[in-house]
Amino acid sequence: AYLSTHRDVSYSAAAVGRVPVAIGSRRLRIVVTGGAGFVGSHLVDKLIGRGNEVIVIDNFFTGRKENLVHLFGNPRFELIRHDVVEPILLEVDQIYHLACPASPVHYKYNPVKTIISFFFSFICMIYKTNVMGTLNMLGLAKRIGARFLLTSTSEVYGDPLEHPQKETYWGNVNPIGERSCYDEGKRTAETLTMDYHRGAGVEVRIARIFNTYGPRMCLDDGRVVSNFVAQAIRKQPLTVYGDGKQTRSFQYVSDLVHGLVALMDGEHVGPFNLGNPGEFTMLELAQVVKETIDSSATIEYKPNTADDPHMRKPDISKAKELLNWEPKVPLREGLPLMVNDFRNRILNEDEGKGM
Ligand code: NAD
Ligand code: UDP
Ligand code: UDP
Repeated sequence: AYLSTHRDVSYSAAAVGRVPVAIGSRRLRIVVTGGAGFVGSHLVDKLIGRGNEVIVIDNFFTGRKENLVHLFGNPRFELIRHDVVEPILLEVDQIYHLACPASPVHYKYNPVKTIISFFFSFICMIYKTNVMGTLNMLGLAKRIGARFLLTSTSEVYGDPLEHPQKETYWGNVNPIGERSCYDEGKRTAETLTMDYHRGAGVEVRIARIFNTYGPRMCLDDGRVVSNFVAQAIRKQPLTVYGDGKQTRSFQYVSDLVHGLVALMDGEHVGPFNLGNPGEFTMLELAQVVKETIDSSATIEYKPNTADDPHMRKPDISKAKELLNWEPKVPLREGLPLMVNDFRNRILNEDEGKGM
């Protein structure tokens, strides 16, 4: 049965592939926390596009209204400015819980003393959002019998000693390091999710998301893809940290959105790795960015951050088998799809500065 067993879910006859659109005569109502962010806003587009009612909860910490402005005025869309650290009362069928300041620049240690306390309050906020925010959304799901999906992360594997990473791997995480607030925050969020599932019967889903890129990414949040693309467009050198031989696997955002929806609507709790197994060193990524945007771009080496995972690549056999999902967009096809969006936003920024 879809959702709680006592519910009678019908499928829109018009919908392709039996997409859940309604419960009885009522449309499926879905909350997306963090829906004004990069991934969230693409997910919201997908859900609105298939006929659902969508309520976004976001405090705009790293998200932007611009990501959703095209939906303003749509009667099936609602945006609530709210911090998930505070309780909230709503009546919905599904909760996609994405809220979390996900940008590394916000949690990696910054050595400039005057802003350490500023960064300290960011770090506390990341941990609080992961723990108290997740607890509140689980409490909400429990009260109303909604299905809850957590967007966890490949960071729960830490600096992995197993390669590629399977969901059965428990990880290699430093509990007291500079990025621990994020890694351990998500690990705790996974723990709470499974506790509410086992202890309170909440229907839950857990996705472990690997590095994802695409249009609407924050311009200056310090992630490698957004950094390189913005740098190439601005004619600045591409900043490679360390020797550039560390690896990551980059997933285009539309593949992730398909995976999240397949997970939510399917019958399996997870956790599931959602990522693209194509693995690149940072130097190889810089090369693809050069080929895509500016072949004359140069590289500038900078010191790496502490505890940086040496390699990361998802084993996605579980998602392939149980969700019938796998990514379709390779890096060389996906990167060009974000360039126009980045160009336009960089241009607008420059105009805003009177340049
Ligand atoms: P993002 O920063 O663009 O989006 C996060 C959204 O959450 C923002 O709109 C932000 O304003 C909102 N938010 C943060 N704290 C909040 C709070 N306390 N209350 C309400 N809203 C709050 O990041 P994203 O890349 O879209 O990430 C979405 C989710 O996916 C996150 O949970 C992140 O941990 C996870 N994830 C992303 C990646 C990736 O590569 N993008 C990788 C692994 C996991
Ligand atoms: N909660 C919420 N909305 C709800 C139900 C609960 O925000 O509709 C919050 C609630 O305030 C609490 C958390 O979710 O902080 C966990 O709720 P639960 O009922 O599981 O635990 P309790 O309230 O008993 O601590
Ligand atoms: N990185 C880099 N140059 C940058 C930003 C990041 O070489 O301008 C490296 C970083 O050291 C890490 C990898 O790129 O090894 C991925 O970093 P990101 O912050 O995007 O994601 P995460 O470390 O969370 O996987």
